[in-house]
Amino acid sequence: MSGNEQKYIREAFASNWIAPLGPNVDAFEKEIAQYVGVNEAAAVSSGTAAIHLALSLLDVKKGDQVFCSTLTFIASANPIVYQGAEPVFIDSEPETWNMSPQALEKALNDAAAEGKLPKAVIIVNLYGQSAKMDELLSLCEHYQVPVIEDAAESLGARYKEKASGTFGKFGVFSFNGNKIITTSGGGMLVSHDAEAIKKARFLATQARDEAVHYQHSVKGYNYRMSNILAGVGRGQLEVLDERVEARRAIFQRYYDCLSTITGIQFMPELEGTYSNRWLTAMLIDEAQLGVSKDVILKDLVEKNIEARPVWKPLHMQPLFDGVTHYSHNDQENVSERLFHQGICLPSGSNMTEEEQMRVIESIKNSIESKTLNEVI
Ligand SMILES: *Cc1c(COP(=O)(O)O)cnc(C)c1O
Repeated sequence: MSGNEQKYIREAFASNWIAPLGPNVDAFEKEIAQYVGVNEAAAVSSGTAAIHLALSLLDVKKGDQVFCSTLTFIASANPIVYQGAEPVFIDSEPETWNMSPQALEKALNDAAAEGKLPKAVIIVNLYGQSAKMDELLSLCEHYQVPVIEDAAESLGARYKEKASGTFGKFGVFSFNGNKIITTSGGGMLVSHDAEAIKKARFLATQARDEAVHYQHSVKGYNYRMSNILAGVGRGQLEVLDERVEARRAIFQRYYDCLSTITGIQFMPELEGTYSNRWLTAMLIDEAQLGVSKDVILKDLVEKNIEARPVWKPLHMQPLFDGVTHYSHNDQENVSERLFHQGICLPSGSNMTEEEQMRVIESIKNSIESKTLNEVI
């Protein structure tokens, strides 16, 4: 917490607005919309809920297909299943680790040839790095397929001077506890289409018709954000830019200390983009380094340092056994390689230099002890 949150929570208590909806919710929506530069935003209970609402608004239903980045957290795709639709997973490309335009083009061409285009494409901005939006959007525009930008991890990032999350028909942010700013749990659906966001608010409050009695004509959800949590969000948003700077500084220190080692490669930042570096991620080439990412991870865990592999691609998840996926090209599945080689390092905005040096020393030790063993 930054300290400012208390002020907004106190206001909620003082005015007795302890409800989903209220002045903090209205203000938080306006402040996010203004920060990223969209017309409207709807505060909801989670990023997952925001994706679900976006799919509902695009009328995704049973029998439909939705394309989705494969290298992402499960929450990107679960709402496709909630709607009874079928996901098709699209591989990453090496320059952003995000959706491969090449693989998307192949998938769209195949879908067009079968006369069954997807109802939506969900593009994820992994670890704060924007996908190749120009290329991906022009493909989706060509086939007139709407885009949902999953910017749950990339709030505060920019692609060619435009805020991440503002490129598709809908953008999604998350304020889950692990994200760059948090409301403990929460999310935001944004769009330039004010009517669509109005409808999202309606669906998120049980789709209650305008009538004094309780009347409902369509299926709704209970997805609104509480006025207290929106107060937390308002305080957090005030320090978002500082958080991004802190995360980028953390990335830079890891990079300065480790990038000269042959066999270590950091997640790139595409030219013209500005990542929030939500998590610092790097690749371990076992053949070059002599140590696998699993050994490095194990050594970190033994020192009580929390580090993780990169997301396991969704096409490799048991839940999605047998689901169609498109590789970057015939020779290589990029997301599988990133999964096998990738590590996410501790990247909290409040990490001290000393704490970070412990992580760096542990990684260097793992590499050196392996080299020593070989000499002996
Ligand atoms: C965190 C996250 C979500 C879901 O957000 P919640 O608020 O946890 O529901 C969706 N997509 C990605 C890529 C995420 O990292």
